[in-house]
Amino acid sequence: SRPLHVIGGGLAGSEAAWQIAQSGQPVILHEMRPTTATPAHKGEGLAELVCSNSFRSDDAETNAVGLLHQEMRGLSSLIMAMADQHQVPAGGALAVDREAFSAAVTDALACHPHVEIVRGEVPGVPPEDWGETIIATGPLTAPSLAEAIRSLTGEGELAFFDAIAPIIHRDSINMDIAWAQSRYDKAGPGGTGADYLNCPMTRDEYEAFVDALLAGETTDFREWEKDTPYFNGCLPIEVMAARGRETLRHGPMKPVGLTNPRDPDVKPYAIVQLRQDNALGTLFNMVGFQTKLRHGAQVDVLRMIPGLERAEFARLGGLHRNTFLNSPKLLDPRLRLKVLPRLRFAGQITGCEGYVESAAVGLMAGRLAAAEREGREITLPPATTALGALLNHITGGHIAAIDAGPQSFQPMNVNFGLFPPLEGAVKSPDGKRLRGPAKAVAKKKALTDRARADFAVWRETLPGTTG
Ligand code: FAD
Repeated sequence: SRPLHVIGGGLAGSEAAWQIAQSGQPVILHEMRPTTATPAHKGEGLAELVCSNSFRSDDAETNAVGLLHQEMRGLSSLIMAMADQHQVPAGGALAVDREAFSAAVTDALACHPHVEIVRGEVPGVPPEDWGETIIATGPLTAPSLAEAIRSLTGEGELAFFDAIAPIIHRDSINMDIAWAQSRYDKAGPGGTGADYLNCPMTRDEYEAFVDALLAGETTDFREWEKDTPYFNGCLPIEVMAARGRETLRHGPMKPVGLTNPRDPDVKPYAIVQLRQDNALGTLFNMVGFQTKLRHGAQVDVLRMIPGLERAEFARLGGLHRNTFLNSPKLLDPRLRLKVLPRLRFAGQITGCEGYVESAAVGLMAGRLAAAEREGREITLPPATTALGALLNHITGGHIAAIDAGPQSFQPMNVNFGLFPPLEGAVKSPDGKRLRGPAKAVAKKKALTDRARADFAVWRETLPGTTG
C-alpha cells in the first residue's frame, strides 16, 4: 500500500515512523541532516539529543514525566526501549549515552522492513500525492518549511530562545574540591547514590560569581529575535541572576540534600551540580547552567566555580531558536492541521517541551496516522493519563476549563498541573486528613494511581498493541 510520510527524524519523527511501521504500514522518514544542518544538531544520527542527556525522572509513582515514561513503555515506544538499553547512572533520572542511543534508534529504523529513510530537506508543504504526512521537524524546523507552514496557517510561528548547558571533561575537574553524591543520596536505575559531582561555594564565592555573571558579555539578539520571551524552564543563568541575587541559590545552585565530605559541618552557601553525560563517564554537564554568555566570558566565569578552576569544556553553552505552532487554535484533537487535515504535527513544534514529551506526541501521531490509513479511529487517551494530559495541553482540550485563550499558549513539559484535579481530598490509608509535604506526595500518588488505572482500560481499546 501507499506509504505514509514523516518529515523529521528527531525524537518525535523517529517514534512516529516506528509506530507506523510496527502497525504494518509502510513509512518514509525524511531527515534533512547531513545535507542540511540545524544550529544545534552535531551529527547525522536520528533522535539526536541536542543538549542534556537526561530523560528526567524515571519515578512513575510521584512524577509526571516518570509516569509518561511508563505509559510510553506500555505502548512499545522505540525511544523508551533504546533509552532503557543505553542508560547511564543519574540518580533517580533516566539519562542515556547520547551516541549509543541515537545509533540504536537509527539502526532499529534502518533495519525495519516497513521503513525507508530518505535524506534531504523537505523545502515546503509536502506535495499532495504524498497523502497523509506527519511534520515533526522540531524547534529548529528549516526556515523554508517554517515559512510554508506559516503561509498555510496565516498564524505566524512563535520563536523564542532555549539555551544549552556547558559540558566539561571529567579529568579536568578538581576532585580535591568536588565530591560525588546524588541529592539525598538517591540511587536510581543503575545508579549508586553518588552519580553527580558537586562543587561547593561559600557566600563570598557566590557573590563574586553572581557579579561576574551580571558583568559578562552575552551574545547579541538578532533583529527578528528581539521580542521573543524566554521559556521559564530553560532560563539562562545570567538571566536568572539578573532577576535577583538569590535566584540561582534557590534554583540550579540550591545547596540542599548534599553534604561536603571534607567539611560535613559547614553547609555550602550554594552548590553547582554536574551530571554524567556519556557512558564512559568522561564528560559531565553542568545541571541547569544554560547560558548565552559569549564563549570567552563563559570560560572565565565558570572557572570561578571551586573545583572547576581548570575545567576543560567539551562544549560551551549557547542559545537557540524554538519554533512552535499555536496548536490549540490550529490543530484538531487528533493533531491534524484544521485547514489541511492531511498534515498532522508531532513533537516540539506542537508546543510540547522536552525529549520525552516530543517522542510521546510522535508516538500518538504515528498511531493516529496508521489507524486513519486503515480506516478506523482509535480512542484518544483519557485526560487523566500523562499522554492524554499532554495532548490536551497541545490541542486545547483544557482551554474552556481553564479559561485561557490560545494567545497564552506556551510550550510545556508534562506536569501534574495539566491533569484534571482529583475528586475529593486525599487522605492517609487510615482515613486521616493530610497536610504539608505528606499531602503533596499523597496527591501525586493518587494522580498516578488514577492515571495507571485509566491507562490500562484505554490500552485495551487499542488494536494490536504489540507489548
Ligand atoms: P528534533 O529532535 O529537533 O527533530 C527534528 C528533526 O527534523 C531534526 O532531525 C531536523 O534535522 C529535521 N528537520 C527540520 N526541518 C526539516 C525539513 N524541512 N526537512 C527534513 N528534515 C527536517 N529537551 C529536553 O528534554 N532536554 C534538553 O536538554 C533540551 N535541550 C534543548 C536545547 C536546544 C538548543 C533546543 C532547540 C531544544 C532542546 N530541548 C530539550 C527541547 C526538545 O525536547 C528537543 O529539541 C527535542 O529534540 C524535540 O524533538 P522533536 O522530534 O520535536 O525535534
